[in-house]
Amino acid sequence: MAEQVIYLNGDYVTKEDAKVSVFDHGFLYGDGIFEGIRIYNGNIFKCKEHLNRLYDSAKSIMLNIPLSYGEMEQALVETIRRNELRDGYIRLVVSRGPGNLGLDPLRCPAAWVIIIAEQLAIYSEEAYRDGLVSVSVSQRRNIPDALNPKIKSLNYLNNILVKIQANLAGVGEAIMLNAQGYVAEGSSDNIFIIKRGVVYTPPCYVGALEGITRATIIELCAKLGYALKEEPFTLHDVYVADEVFFTGTAAEVIAVREVDGRTIGEGKAGPITTHLLAEFRKTVDVDGVKVYE
Ligand code: PMP
Repeated sequence: MAEQVIYLNGDYVTKEDAKVSVFDHGFLYGDGIFEGIRIYNGNIFKCKEHLNRLYDSAKSIMLNIPLSYGEMEQALVETIRRNELRDGYIRLVVSRGPGNLGLDPLRCPAAWVIIIAEQLAIYSEEAYRDGLVSVSVSQRRNIPDALNPKIKSLNYLNNILVKIQANLAGVGEAIMLNAQGYVAEGSSDNIFIIKRGVVYTPPCYVGALEGITRATIIELCAKLGYALKEEPFTLHDVYVADEVFFTGTAAEVIAVREVDGRTIGEGKAGPITTHLLAEFRKTVDVDGVKVYE
């Protein structure tokens, strides 16, 4: 396997040389944005959708990305090629760049662009079949009026506080509510529930990232003929659901078998979740940008 090389502002450098300034505002303040993208069999899955979200996040926080959309796509392709990856995960980071100790972004003359590509191992096939155990946590989603969860910003402390509560409960992913008590999402995954054949997911205004996997599942439901409703729901609805699953770039479509001690459905991945995962996996090396000729 090739030695890992990292894209850093137009250069390809080794892991040892991939260093960021202590004055970088991404480091000092979480001022920046990022994407997590999967490569499946040499295909950058949903590349366009990820780049659209990146450039939208940049616009929202008035961050000038120094690469055009086409140049960014090329940088992703080249980074994957140089790392000789066919399957893996890409972390694309655009930070406000180095400035002074004040928080003013006007003091940061140029954004920094970093692309890290590497292999990924997350859940076992048994986990997809058996489902995860999850819990709800007391940490609430930050309100969209303060920092909109649609912005995939480097400021992930809200999510990290959820992850800490998940760790304390001994589970891999937890359920976060919004300030009104509606189910929002996981620490880094969107959530779906299924009741009597209808698939539900919270609308993003409740306080969720517009997940690319979430959008793919919504499209698949339409294609496969499952009724889908984007509407707010509560923990009660989760407890009494027939099926529950999380979606995310890394997690794909992972069933939940237990929430706060309540067994969900049969206590394993249910039939619709299993069907959606199978259909999802059929699209992952087709829909996107090809890295190799
Ligand atoms: N919510 C949050 C907070 C996330 O960080 C992510 C990304 N892992 C998701 C949802 C899922 O989004 P996507 O399907 O685009 O990976």
